[in-house]
Amino acid sequence: INKLDKQFFVDSLKGMAKLSEEQRDHWTKLDSDIGDGDHGINLSIGFRGIMDKIDQLAEENPDINSLLKKSGMILLSKVGGAAGPLYGSFFMKMGGNYPDRTEVTFSEFLDMIRTGIEAVQFRGKAELGDKTMIDAFLPGLKLINDYQESEDPLSFFDSFVRAMRAGSDATIPLVAKKGRAMRLGERAIGHRDPGSDSSWMLMNVFDQELKK
Ligand code: ADP
Ligand code: MG
Ligand code: MG
Repeated sequence: INKLDKQFFVDSLKGMAKLSEEQRDHWTKLDSDIGDGDHGINLSIGFRGIMDKIDQLAEENPDINSLLKKSGMILLSKVGGAAGPLYGSFFMKMGGNYPDRTEVTFSEFLDMIRTGIEAVQFRGKAELGDKTMIDAFLPGLKLINDYQESEDPLSFFDSFVRAMRAGSDATIPLVAKKGRAMRLGERAIGHRDPGSDSSWMLMNVFDQELKK
């Protein structure tokens, strides 16, 4: 993989916006089982907000960090639910170690994802097993922490996404300890956490863009 430029991130955000439309009803269904049924709507509103401004943002912000930061701020401001501010933090913080850069290496990109995941955890204070998006993110983070530069980037990122997906699967038998599903107690058992589903799928968009 060559260096990842600003266009890679613009295309990824566009891909995430497309995904949010495609999965809107599915995520909303998951959230109506154990939440208030708005997760798909929330993400669709948030990423539509980014799409409304993406060309302007790309033009006005020469560097990757500013582009991601402003996109995150849109998610934070447009979305009322829990996931908006959490994903907002992810994008607002992910480029923080690399200000003023117009391209990053694959390892630096992984470090950006690590920073984003840490920001989600800092904001939401969820731990592994609380039945949230953190249950998907943490198994992925563990792989990133063990990444060796000698590994093939594309197959590594595939396994990153697979680990997140398995983390989401693992939320199904759990009782929730954070978020709205907490109120359901044992009635949450047997249902996938919606945010764990959207998070692996959003990271999968990066995977698809890496392969282009
Ligand atoms: P709301 O619950 O406010 O309606 P959404 O439906 O958009 O917001 O998002 C719900 C998702 O947010 C949950 O499925 C869960 O994955 C995630 N979530 C909720 N609270 C937390 C938290 N404290 N930390 C991490 N993720 C959380
Ligand atoms: Mg909800
Ligand atoms: Mg809500």
